[in-house]
Amino acid sequence: MRIYISGLHCGPNPSAGVGVARSLRLAYPDATLIGVDYSNRSSGIHAPEFDDVWLQQPWNKLDLDVHAAQLHDRIEQEGSYWISCLDLEILWAAQALEPHPRLLIATSKALDQIAKPAVPAHRGLPVGIPPFLSTIEPDDRLHAFGRRHGWKIWLKGPYYDAAQVNSWPALVSLRAAFQSTWGTENLFVQAHVRGLEESLCFSAYRGRLLDAVHMVKREITPEGKTWGGCVDDPVPELLDPLREIVAALNWTGGAELEMIRDPAGALWLMEMNPRFPAWIHGATLAGRNLVGRLVEAASGIAMCKAEPQSSEFVRIVLEIPVRSGYPLSPLQEPLNGNQYPSSKYPSGMPMLARKLHALRRRAAPAGASEPAEALASAPASFIEDVGDADLDQVQTPYRFLLPRTTAQSFSRIATAARAASGPGCTVRVAYSIKTNPDQRLIELARGQGFLAEAISELEVAAALELGFLPEQIILNGPAKGWPRPIRAHPVHAMICDSIEELRQVAQRAARGENLAHIIGVRLRGPQLISRFGIPVASHELFGEMIELLRALPPSIRLGCHFHVASNFFGIGQWWKLYESSLRCARAIETCAERAVECIDIGGGWFPEDFENELIPELGNAVRQAREALPGLREFVLEPGKAMVQHSMALAVRVLEVRRNWGWPKEIVVDGSIAELPLALQYPHRILQRDDMTGEWQPMARGKARILGRLCMEDDILAPNVALRTDIAQGQLLAICDAGAYESTMAYNFGKGKTNGL
Ligand SMILES: *Cc1c(COP(=O)(O)O)cnc(C)c1O
Repeated sequence: MRIYISGLHCGPNPSAGVGVARSLRLAYPDATLIGVDYSNRSSGIHAPEFDDVWLQQPWNKLDLDVHAAQLHDRIEQEGSYWISCLDLEILWAAQALEPHPRLLIATSKALDQIAKPAVPAHRGLPVGIPPFLSTIEPDDRLHAFGRRHGWKIWLKGPYYDAAQVNSWPALVSLRAAFQSTWGTENLFVQAHVRGLEESLCFSAYRGRLLDAVHMVKREITPEGKTWGGCVDDPVPELLDPLREIVAALNWTGGAELEMIRDPAGALWLMEMNPRFPAWIHGATLAGRNLVGRLVEAASGIAMCKAEPQSSEFVRIVLEIPVRSGYPLSPLQEPLNGNQYPSSKYPSGMPMLARKLHALRRRAAPAGASEPAEALASAPASFIEDVGDADLDQVQTPYRFLLPRTTAQSFSRIATAARAASGPGCTVRVAYSIKTNPDQRLIELARGQGFLAEAISELEVAAALELGFLPEQIILNGPAKGWPRPIRAHPVHAMICDSIEELRQVAQRAARGENLAHIIGVRLRGPQLISRFGIPVASHELFGEMIELLRALPPSIRLGCHFHVASNFFGIGQWWKLYESSLRCARAIETCAERAVECIDIGGGWFPEDFENELIPELGNAVRQAREALPGLREFVLEPGKAMVQHSMALAVRVLEVRRNWGWPKEIVVDGSIAELPLALQYPHRILQRDDMTGEWQPMARGKARILGRLCMEDDILAPNVALRTDIAQGQLLAICDAGAYESTMAYNFGKGKTNGL
């Protein structure tokens, strides 16, 4: 019996070939085992289990047709068996070769059913698929996905490669790197699942499940790969549906379902691999020789019975002699300390991936395989407002207000606040002045009956100047008295950021100073890593806080403030933190023996999340707060960027168009990161004007870049846009979503001026 086994890499992230060979050696001591690989850097080619090795050219050099013919000969003429431990080789061979009883891999049709990330075949198994989104989707949806999951997400390639992504800039740069390595736009992002890894491994022949084991990892490498595990029988809830899936897919070969068990005990399916896992010999050591069973089913020749030695296995590192005739090549010289894909994938796997895309594109109906770029879109009010702005004569870069967009945003939240108010408890909006102190915005806020939220005496002065009364102002933050001590007029509310501040405020109140109608505390829960608020988990500080709150004059009402950026933890966690701060407020009420009459939930919301996640739940949130705090009279929201991020756009002009073979690849504009300091921190919608029609159109994602005017390496305003082919010097662009910190944190640069400090 001759058996070819491919995939011999044996590093910390190994292929299964060596484990498969060790198991086969036990099942069939006399079989001839031939190791196959596509790189002489795969250390498993030296493993003593192999009687011989068949070393091929790397995939980028290999003639695939010739290889397919040779493979066919070995199976057909030699009567050999073929077990592949390389996912991409399996995908290729399933397309390139006719099914054969000794070619021990699944069919293309079955492989389609286990494709990442949806794994359609999983239906019936008691497992969930973690939320995912294709990178074909527009950038604003990808950014929303990251926010929703608190930037605990992964970027994954269609076959290989996964990288944890913790911010938008990281996603943009990893996306570009993955796309160039794998030659496809079709990647996906997936939510991280907290939990412990387990897997289900099985062996099947022509739709018949031969054996299956359940392995729970006991030791892992820094990459999360198995280094020790415990092998057991799968429970019937997994085994029964698995048997049906194997039959439905008419599966042949090994397979592994990689799963994560979350803290609640639920199983999540990460992927289903069409091959044995690298730890497969661990199952054999537990008396379950899945590889032997596969060859037995295909050959009809009984294998040697597997002897159970231990249900647990570990890995060790061993030195072995190098096979004669296969000397080691020298190390590759590192290029700038980076690992290039050629050295990360020594067998040229990415090249095979590209060839596979090409094959699939040819096989699929026209236009179906590689989806076109998502069409760009921008809200209609952006286009109207930008269209109405008279930009032809202005000196660019020029920031301007989008009046309809802004008015809509202010009135929508005013309506939502009214709708969520009930008898006895009013919902109030306090506009965060620091986010954008533009007079027009402060006046709009006042016109809607909002409060003004200020973090300094200077901001209070600005609000008073524009008609706010002291009792319409909330003072918050760590330096309210800067630059002068706080005035005598009582403000609506004052939120203390520390125990020291609370102590001082309490002393002043005791002396008869009338500082505010509501005195509140900003809570820093035990889960938060924050520089703000009173750390209520400290027994000592909590005790002192209670004493100080109890001592406040009875005419003063108590408030609790909680402020966590929703994208830091993710939306689901935000609501859990909200509930936990209500419990904390309730504890304060009980211990201080005074009602908490005001809850203030802060800002930090991205506009779309505020609109889609918070506003629809506002009524419920208020109800929950009233249930926890029966004396509640006021519920405050302090939105800043949620209301004004889209209120302004920056008009810029094209200074230069840089073309490659006639196609515009880069433009230099007269705006810069000095006017858009957060240009790369989140996606901005960009409109470009068609000079023929005067129409403003949203710019789609693409491979071109918008560069800023500064002589600074990092002055890149947009790294991934599609430029019109007729784009020309002097044309206007409007970079939207520039009304919050893009506006307030802008600075003078490259204009021969200082910043005025
Ligand atoms: C800045 C600030 C806000 C507004 O934050 P955004 O991120 O702009 O929504 C709200 N409350 C306080 C106390 C702030 O300092």
